[in-house]
Amino acid sequence: MKNAYLYFIDRFLPRRISYRLALSYLLILCLFVIVVVRSVTQVQDISRRSQEFARNDLQKLLQVQNLALDIEGSTSALVLIFNATQDKRKPAYDAVDAKKKHIDQLIQKLGAESDDEVQTLCLQRLDVTHQEFRQSYLNLFDEIELDNPDGAKRVFETQVAPARQAFLTESGILLDLAKKRIQQRQDEEQSDLARLKLQVIAVSIFAVLCGIGLAFITQSSVVQPLTMLEKSALQIAAGNYTSKVPPTRTTEVAQVGRALNTMADAIALREAEIEQLAYYDPLSNLPNRILLLKTFEQQSLHEHAMLLMDIARLKIVNETLGFGTGDTLIVEVSQRLKLATEALAQNHHAFLAKFSGGQFALLCAAPDGGLIKDVVADLLNNINHQLSTPVQCGNHSVDANLVFGIALANNETRDLTGLIRNAEVALYAAKENTLMSAWYSDAQEASRLGHLSLLSDLRSAVQNNELQMWLQPKIHLSDLSCYGFEALVRWQHPQRGFISPAEFVPFAERTGYINRVTDWMLKQAVQTLASWRDSYPQLSIAVNVSTNDLRDQHFPERVRQLIDQYQVNPANLQLELTESGIMENPGNAIPLLQALRSIGIGLSIDDFGTGHSSLAYLQKLPVSELKIDRSFVINIDQHPSTQKLVKTIVEMGHGLNLHVIAEGIETLAEREALVALGCDSMQGYFASKPLHGDALQNWLNTLPKA
Ligand code: C2E
Ligand code: MG
Ligand code: MG
Repeated sequence: MKNAYLYFIDRFLPRRISYRLALSYLLILCLFVIVVVRSVTQVQDISRRSQEFARNDLQKLLQVQNLALDIEGSTSALVLIFNATQDKRKPAYDAVDAKKKHIDQLIQKLGAESDDEVQTLCLQRLDVTHQEFRQSYLNLFDEIELDNPDGAKRVFETQVAPARQAFLTESGILLDLAKKRIQQRQDEEQSDLARLKLQVIAVSIFAVLCGIGLAFITQSSVVQPLTMLEKSALQIAAGNYTSKVPPTRTTEVAQVGRALNTMADAIALREAEIEQLAYYDPLSNLPNRILLLKTFEQQSLHEHAMLLMDIARLKIVNETLGFGTGDTLIVEVSQRLKLATEALAQNHHAFLAKFSGGQFALLCAAPDGGLIKDVVADLLNNINHQLSTPVQCGNHSVDANLVFGIALANNETRDLTGLIRNAEVALYAAKENTLMSAWYSDAQEASRLGHLSLLSDLRSAVQNNELQMWLQPKIHLSDLSCYGFEALVRWQHPQRGFISPAEFVPFAERTGYINRVTDWMLKQAVQTLASWRDSYPQLSIAVNVSTNDLRDQHFPERVRQLIDQYQVNPANLQLELTESGIMENPGNAIPLLQALRSIGIGLSIDDFGTGHSSLAYLQKLPVSELKIDRSFVINIDQHPSTQKLVKTIVEMGHGLNLHVIAEGIETLAEREALVALGCDSMQGYFASKPLHGDALQNWLNTLPKA
């Protein structure tokens, strides 16, 4: 039924709603015109027939009635003649004659106008009876004129009375016929009117039915599709872009449907783009931190581990080989990480994400029954295997090294943010200790907390002389002569024993307490230089200065006062600054460095290559030395790509008239590689570990005195 209806709509109705509506209104208009035209013609017909009726039938009735009256009149005239005297009979005969003529004329006229056979026959009989009646009263007149009253009476009774009666009967029949005819006409009019009424009602009902039908068709071809469009629009609003508006049978709705579908596709595309931008790293196409956190928001982290990985020396690759090379390195490392984690990711046991810079995060889970530590060990193997071949970036071959910070989820790990933070702590520890990887341990956390109490101890450490200055020699690579030392702080804690500066210096820096350490070390260094003034005037001492010191505007003044107080050559004092310390607020730091430089003190950029300074920026810094970080030096003899980097740094340093020193040299091979690369001097365990007390004195004894 429904199909037949749809077939009808499809087959016979135009597809445009406007045409359908026009057609509907046209049809209703036609029906209305039909009703009006039909009513008008019927009314005209009825009025025409009424006129005809008035003109013909009523007139005829009147004439017939006249005829009857005339017959009555002529009978009365006969009675008059019957009783009149002779002189009065003459006008009576004339009256009877006149009546007779009149009756004849009427019969004739009625006969001529009659269109009814029965009426014609009746008129003929009337004419016959009239003639018989006339003959009878002529006979009567003869008897009267013969003055024979008995004969007249007999003729009257035997001839005139029956003839008159017959004539009257016929005229009565004619009158009845005329009345009947009028009655019949009236009945006909009534039935015509009733028929017209029926027709008008029928056409009106038909028009109403058509209206209902059209309303239904309009509803199904306009309202239904519009409802469908509304539903689709709501679906789009709800973010369901896959449900499409189905094709409809009406042009306009189909057009709007197509427009909605196009809009939904466009929104879906744009949303996908926005999602891509919001949740994916544009360079590597890997999920970002937000997506990682969102994905594991509600999930249990039981038997999960977080591996946080940093591309080592990315900054210096960017600076020396260009950002394009750095980007290629990131993309290539992300590809290799994908390959290394592919198998686990397929089973939803690994989720690789890219954080900012050259940092990646890998959340992994142990398969059922497996141990997470085994999973991590396998992953580390796979990743290191994938990274074993250098990355080809254009003309350069770059070693893709990763530093790992690993944290395992335990009962206290509340959420993924906590797990990531633990991995960050581990990564930080790995970098601090120049290790390839470090696992987060509760001991680390405990030690972090322990540092707080350590800080209060540090206050007394300065006063109680618990600090020591150790000196590590710096050697010219050209003749292997020692020309100075780096001063390194040591803390001999009364309860905890020896505490590494790597452990307390970063925390002392964060709390600002490092200034006291710097002041203490500076004083020690200047005092030592003063003590060497005569014996070793060629030796210099470099003191490490923290970011906090560079914030203090009075720092250069304090240094100058010390130098003045102990009368030392400012050229023998050097300060080691980190890139981050300068870059934190170059606007403040540079004038401060200039003030220090104007005193005549040497300035060195420590740990060069690990920070974020721009090489171009170095030109603006009033520094005299560049200290290449230990991470470049480790096994440099085995890494041609690192050699290239270091060579570029050395050449660039020389280009800026800087003395270039490499720190952390542990082997002969490393030292020889640095000699080959044109490095000026070195510092490291291969020459000597930091020295103190007798060991220092023994070392000094080997040096030529002034
Ligand atoms: P740094 O300034 O880069 O110092 C070099 C560090 O590398 C020293 O560690 C030194 O002992 C170590 N080192 C030198 N040669 C070798 C080597 O051949 N192999 C290895 N594995 N290590 C080598 P230390 O003394 O533990 O100092 C660590 C860091 O603590 C320093 O790094 C410096 O940033 C900071 N620090 C040390 N003393 C002071 C200080 O008096 N003031 C400030 N502000 N920071 C200090
Ligand atoms: Mg240093
Ligand atoms: Mg250093």
